[in-house]
Amino acid sequence: MELLTEQERQHRSHRATTIAAALRDRGIVAVALTWVDTSGITRTKAVPLERLPHAAAWGVGASPVFDAFLLDDSILSGHFAGGPTGDLRLHPDLARVAPLAALPGWAIAPADRYTQDGAPHPRDPRLLLRRIVDELATDGFMVRAAIEFEWVVSRTDPADPDAFHPATTAPAYGAAKLVELGGYLRDLLDALRDSGIVVEQIHPEYAVSQFELSIAAADPLATADTAIVVRETIRAASAAHGLRACFAPMVGVDEVGNGGHIHLSLWRDGRNTMAGGSGPFGLTDPGHRFAAGILKHLPGLLAIGCPSMASYLRLRPSHWAGIYACWGLENREAALRFITGADGEREYAANLEIKCFDPAANPYLALAGLLIAGRAGLAADLALPSPVAVDPAGLDRQTRHAEGIDALPRTLHDAVAAFEADPVLSCAFGAELADTISSVRRGEITLFADATPEQIAAATRWRF
Ligand code: GLU
Ligand code: MG
Repeated sequence: MELLTEQERQHRSHRATTIAAALRDRGIVAVALTWVDTSGITRTKAVPLERLPHAAAWGVGASPVFDAFLLDDSILSGHFAGGPTGDLRLHPDLARVAPLAALPGWAIAPADRYTQDGAPHPRDPRLLLRRIVDELATDGFMVRAAIEFEWVVSRTDPADPDAFHPATTAPAYGAAKLVELGGYLRDLLDALRDSGIVVEQIHPEYAVSQFELSIAAADPLATADTAIVVRETIRAASAAHGLRACFAPMVGVDEVGNGGHIHLSLWRDGRNTMAGGSGPFGLTDPGHRFAAGILKHLPGLLAIGCPSMASYLRLRPSHWAGIYACWGLENREAALRFITGADGEREYAANLEIKCFDPAANPYLALAGLLIAGRAGLAADLALPSPVAVDPAGLDRQTRHAEGIDALPRTLHDAVAAFEADPVLSCAFGAELADTISSVRRGEITLFADATPEQIAAATRWRF
């Protein structure tokens, strides 16, 4: 990753001046520079629009301590992160500045974190994802990615502000559920369109007062950036309607959770490697190896994709959360659901869905981890086991064992142990970032050591 040179700083400043003029014409007065911390919380520092050129060239100061924040804002003392000293610079990515139409006057810009000397911060998840995408491109591959957004809508009640008060109790997937909150959903779609986001679908989900949005697939970095804009748009649109959006893995212990499923397809020479091949369900050889890499590294990846204690309240059998380390065609109980799409659109549509991940995951880390695993599968020539066509929870233990179907880690503790035992992941994340991820996860385990599931769900409910 390049150092920020004097020339590059000047170039950024000029570019930001042009962008700021265009934003001013759209009524923007301030830009929120965002980054996502190790716990999966989006943090921000904002600048008035006229300061954007300076921020683009010199960044905005932010302590490195944020790497060691836990989800309750307490600060851990880790090996690499956690002290009061030092400073980083938040540099907005000018290619990704977007108006936050749901919050008039505001724009949002994902930031890369550099040192004061202009060197990339070694624990920055966004820079990591950019590097992995570039490495795959050097190998001749590109990835198209999409993240699904499930969230639960609550009424606000000043008398009991942190409790969950379903905004609707209409049936799952019910038209009534859409109609009861139709004005809110319309405003949300309007705001997303005005922020430049292409929505493919919106629907009332299974859980009480739960909805889901699907966004068009894109380059992984753009997809992670879009995830931030989508979430803050949902949050702002909810607030404007007197509602509150819950993006936690679980709103309460007895509910169906919020998933943060990720879809991936691997492309080479303009062709989707997940279709038109001679492997199972049309996988080509590279598509097959890429998927096998993800499956192999999934236990360790759970510490990234299911990063919170609350994540493990969601990962239950037969809840469509994909708790078994297996894959299958359109199997919603497999951690990896292979999707071919309809006959006629397969070359474009075929993809792999990671079902087990949830919305607490830092999208940059989650996508980086998946791409690292897929790339390792390509390099090691890995092969997928036989696909699974049933809910593994319905098989007895011996049958699961005989078919090589293992459960994914059932606790955050076990997921961190699997992450630490996976040299492919720790090596690609780098010693500092890998250690910080483990430390933050262990910090959360300690934080909730004496907490009941109800207390964990309550403490997590509004944090993301
Ligand atoms: N809400 C489910 C989850 O926790 C997923 C439902 C679905 O398959 O869309 O992941
Ligand atoms: Mg869903």
